[in-house]
Amino acid sequence: MTKIAAAIMVSNLDQALALAAKAAELGADLVEYRVDNLAESPDGAEVVNALIEKSPLPCIITCRAAWEGGECDCDDQTRVSFLENACLNGEMRPAYLDFELASHQKSFNIRQKVELMVDHPGQIREVPTGLILSSHDFDTRPVDLYQRVEAMAHAAACRVIKVAWNARSLRDNIEAFEVLQSQYKPTIALCMGEDGLPSRVLAKKFGALLTFAAIDGQPGTAPGQPTITQLKQSYRWDKLNAQTKVYGVIGYPVGHSMSPAIFNAAFDEQDYDGVYLPMRIEPSYESFKATVLSWLDLPSLHFKGASVTIPHKENLIRFVTEQGGEVEQLAQKIGAANTLTVRDDGSLYASNSDYAGALDAVVQNMGIPREEVKDLRVAVIGAGGAARAIVAGFSHYGATVVVYNRTLQKAQKLAEEFTNPYGKVVAAPMDKLCDSCCQVFINCTPLGMHPNVDTSPLPADFAGYGPGIVVFDTVYNPRNTLLLRQARAAGCLTIPGTEMFIRQAATQYSLWTNQQAPVDCFSRVLLSRLG
Ligand code: NAP
Repeated sequence: MTKIAAAIMVSNLDQALALAAKAAELGADLVEYRVDNLAESPDGAEVVNALIEKSPLPCIITCRAAWEGGECDCDDQTRVSFLENACLNGEMRPAYLDFELASHQKSFNIRQKVELMVDHPGQIREVPTGLILSSHDFDTRPVDLYQRVEAMAHAAACRVIKVAWNARSLRDNIEAFEVLQSQYKPTIALCMGEDGLPSRVLAKKFGALLTFAAIDGQPGTAPGQPTITQLKQSYRWDKLNAQTKVYGVIGYPVGHSMSPAIFNAAFDEQDYDGVYLPMRIEPSYESFKATVLSWLDLPSLHFKGASVTIPHKENLIRFVTEQGGEVEQLAQKIGAANTLTVRDDGSLYASNSDYAGALDAVVQNMGIPREEVKDLRVAVIGAGGAARAIVAGFSHYGATVVVYNRTLQKAQKLAEEFTNPYGKVVAAPMDKLCDSCCQVFINCTPLGMHPNVDTSPLPADFAGYGPGIVVFDTVYNPRNTLLLRQARAAGCLTIPGTEMFIRQAATQYSLWTNQQAPVDCFSRVLLSRLG
């Protein structure tokens, strides 16, 4: 079973033991003591002896050389002598000793000394410590990655193979999974940096020996390490297994997205065997295509779908079309899709849940069926991506839509594209908004969005406000925008953007799981994040 190893950069005995106790409490299985800064300290070896003896969890001892990304500047001889004193002189032994492949290969003498400290087929004493041979690249994927793995696999004294490198993109995670699948020996294969998160979370799915995690509130010892609590609570660590289905939110950037939090909480609530990850992909079609193909091409990853956001909504349609998949008709017309579904037979389906999310937010709050949308006169403010989906949805159901936009030509283009036999769409300049006699107003501009929370597309004294009027703000951060506060004060029915967000996510959830989405859970998590 894959373990969580809490990484601790040791500065002194008490600090390290206190952090190790906290790691144990948080649910770590192992602790890695990074003793890089003790190698030249006069009592460094004694501190490590005491650490090993008093550690609340089995431990890995690592004294990482500076040239390998660590903090120890000593030469290899000094470092190995320190490790001998640190690991052999005390009462207890560490579970593992981590040593760099490069140093192990460089000198027979060093190799011999390291091998005296660990268990291996040629060892004549009883030694409980296993050797982790490791290789790190903090810049990029090493060109000789597989040669390094093979060298570790063939080193008789090596019990565990460890490779870690800085992910150049999400695609590097796939190689980490392939290294784990080669199963020569127990293996740790991790990608560092923001794009390496999947390798850290899915280490358990691919049977790694362990993944490293930072202790909550601590900086961690390598870029991109999640905390123990993030792994266990946000990414469902305890539930992950080889069959777990993988989903994600594709965009650039995606670090701020609330989708991982709401989907993982929903999977948990319904005990659905899935996990949902942020998936950052550079904003070009080539990057989108190459990355999504690489994730689809590894069957053991069980990549089953993604929410797709800016700037890849158009790319999704092109990709699914090129791959011979199906594109929802209205998504095709909108020219943007936000949902990728990988069906059971492996075929792809691209759809748009934004328009349905917005439509349902309005009709359900008004207490009318979708069919009655045809009787509505709707003002859409803005003519960007969100407006496009909303105009498409409302005009499809027969509403009369007036698009008000700062750049009139964009509103006119929308009107031309989406006027249809049932729904009329007309364009109007923004300064005519105050004369509007629409019944429903939908803000599709970023006006009012954090940090510009004091802006609104409509003035407080707008004459059109009043009972019977519906004001829907697609902005959801903050939840209670200035527009909504003013409209509510004037007696309008107001709908926050969170309702669209939750409903569009619910549509995705049902498509992927064939289950009704737990919308209360979505709301709870989203509102707790928005404060
Ligand atoms: P977009 O494609 O960039 O379009 C933005 C639109 O707002 C454009 O029509 C733009 O007018 C207009 N605009 C921008 N700044 C303005 C200003 N200062 N004054 C007047 N008009 C302005 O953006 P989008 O993707 O449609 O997103 C728009 C909003 O929708 C975002 O703020 C987002 O919060 C919200 N949204 C919510 C959800 C949800 O689930 N609740 C989903 C998607 C989007 P020009 O054409 O003149 O540039």
